[in-house]
Amino acid sequence: MALLQISEPGQSPDPHQRRIAVGIDLGTTHSLVASVRHGAAECLPDAQGRVILPSAVRYLLDDRGQVRRQIGYDAIAQQAEDPLNTIVSVKRFMGRKLADLPDAGRLPYQFEDQPGMVGVHTVAGVKSPVEVSAEILANLRQRAEDTFNDDLFGAVITVPAYFDDAQRQATKDAAQMAGLNVLRLLNEPTAAAIAYGLDNGAEGLYAIYDLGGGTFDISLLQLSRGVFEVVATGGDSALGGDDIDHILADAALAEAKMEAVTPQDKRTVLVAARRTKEKLSTDGNAHLSCALSGGMLSVTITREHLAELAKPLIDKTLASVKRVLRDAKVKADEVKGVVMVGGSTRMPAVRDAVGAFFGQTPLTDLNPDEVVALGAAIQANLLAGNNTQGEHLLLDVLPLSLGLETMGGLVERIIPRNTPIPCARAQDFTTFKDGQTALAVHVVQGEREQVEYCRSLARFELRGIPPMAAGAARIRVSFQVDADGLLSVSAKELQSGVEASVVVKPSYGLSDEQVANMLREGFTTAAEDMKDRALREARVEAERMLEATRTALAADGDLLSAEQRAEIDRLMAQIGQRCDRGDLEALEAATKALAHGTEAFAAERMNRSIRQALAGRKLDQV
Ligand code: ADP
Ligand code: MG
Repeated sequence: MALLQISEPGQSPDPHQRRIAVGIDLGTTHSLVASVRHGAAECLPDAQGRVILPSAVRYLLDDRGQVRRQIGYDAIAQQAEDPLNTIVSVKRFMGRKLADLPDAGRLPYQFEDQPGMVGVHTVAGVKSPVEVSAEILANLRQRAEDTFNDDLFGAVITVPAYFDDAQRQATKDAAQMAGLNVLRLLNEPTAAAIAYGLDNGAEGLYAIYDLGGGTFDISLLQLSRGVFEVVATGGDSALGGDDIDHILADAALAEAKMEAVTPQDKRTVLVAARRTKEKLSTDGNAHLSCALSGGMLSVTITREHLAELAKPLIDKTLASVKRVLRDAKVKADEVKGVVMVGGSTRMPAVRDAVGAFFGQTPLTDLNPDEVVALGAAIQANLLAGNNTQGEHLLLDVLPLSLGLETMGGLVERIIPRNTPIPCARAQDFTTFKDGQTALAVHVVQGEREQVEYCRSLARFELRGIPPMAAGAARIRVSFQVDADGLLSVSAKELQSGVEASVVVKPSYGLSDEQVANMLREGFTTAAEDMKDRALREARVEAERMLEATRTALAADGDLLSAEQRAEIDRLMAQIGQRCDRGDLEALEAATKALAHGTEAFAAERMNRSIRQALAGRKLDQV
């Protein structure tokens, strides 16, 4: 696969004009801002010395009815009291419609579909996830500006590798709303790899294992000649440390033969379980104790017991890892290094399992909460032109294939999934009918051979094609995906130069489960799809043959005797019958029979047109 290189602004900056650039990890539960200072990336603390900002925003009204906001720890502190107006995990709603959020019913919010994406009712009105994210980003921007006592030049913001166009666009919109100049959106695993400086090290494959609070992501990166390429991604959007808290809470309750009855009880025991779990990352055993409505819950948990409880979950993550390796056609021992990201990778059981799986000790030197922000800061510093070390190349991949609908409802894949971005591909198409002056372009995303099983991204029409014989027009359709994963498609008729294009900014997103489903379906149905594709192609071919014969008959039918004409009509009718049946071979045979049966007629027509062309002309004029 040819790699497309991105060259970064390489001009060496005047040291007095150093531009302040930051990296922001806009996380589901936590967000951080980091910057390169004195040659090293570091996370910037708030006034209380805390680097983590909980990704939470609370809207409230003050005494005079004015809208106020609490962000981060202040918002979290009020979450139990004011759940409706305290928005957490907003990242899950970015670029999504209500229909994309299967667990919306279990959340305390009042959702409402707005143009583009879902909104949440609060005392301050309906808030879009973009607005809520912008509050978090603006808070971090303020923190950075206070730290440097200067304006920011720009920011690199990280997003999950599987984020689709809508989710990436929503993230950019949020940054813009927060007054940030987005230098680039960067995939989280790529940022983690940069933080470890893997781009300066040995070439090869690296795995990024990211187990957070609510999500698990696994990414494979290939480093060659200082260039990162995301080879494949996978994971589980509903698997993380929170699930371990639930399992531990249930186990503790069972051991004490108690129950968490009220919603308050359930919250309390979960908080205690999480605290105990985190303590067990450093200690051999810990007490889980809390006051429930039915009395005191108090049990001792050992690290081994927690490891046992977490095992099914950890095994599930390893199953995802296996899938991704299989997808990329590599073996675990071909992986050169494993980077651990996310708070849950502090658990020794997780480190041990991942280490055993890959047969090597994973990289854990950097703080797993900070590593993504640190990598983003290094990248931001480069993009701001502060680094004279030369260019830095980064590549990410498309999560799903992009293609076009062709005749017969089939998909012509233009850019296969896992192609590094930015990328551009073009393919030539032609017209199906004589005199066709317009071409409908339907852009789809997905792994299946049939349009109806792929996701429709955009439709547009190329008009004004000069009338030509079927198959004579050359229409070049170009796909271009920019560094942020946004797609533009253009179609151009090469002879006349008429052109039409569309930029795809889907108004709703695709959940990663949907992406996973589309991939899974694509794999399991591949053989069936191929058969179906062959049949559809045969139908298109038959249709083309019929159309050409009809045109010829209309123009030169008088060349045929009644018998010859009857024979051709019979062959055409035969195709019509076989088109309706699903028998591929019979249809192909009928099409071939018509082609054969009209050969003499075609020769006659050729003679006639040559005679006409020559009529009245001298030989030397020809
Ligand atoms: P996210 O990426 O989802 O925003 P984080 O990467 O911040 O989340 O990870 C949060 C998760 O990490 C929580 O489930 C938390 O309990 C867990 N965690 C944090 N510190 C530890 C620790 N010392 N041991 C085990 N788990 C931890
Ligand atoms: Mg994370």
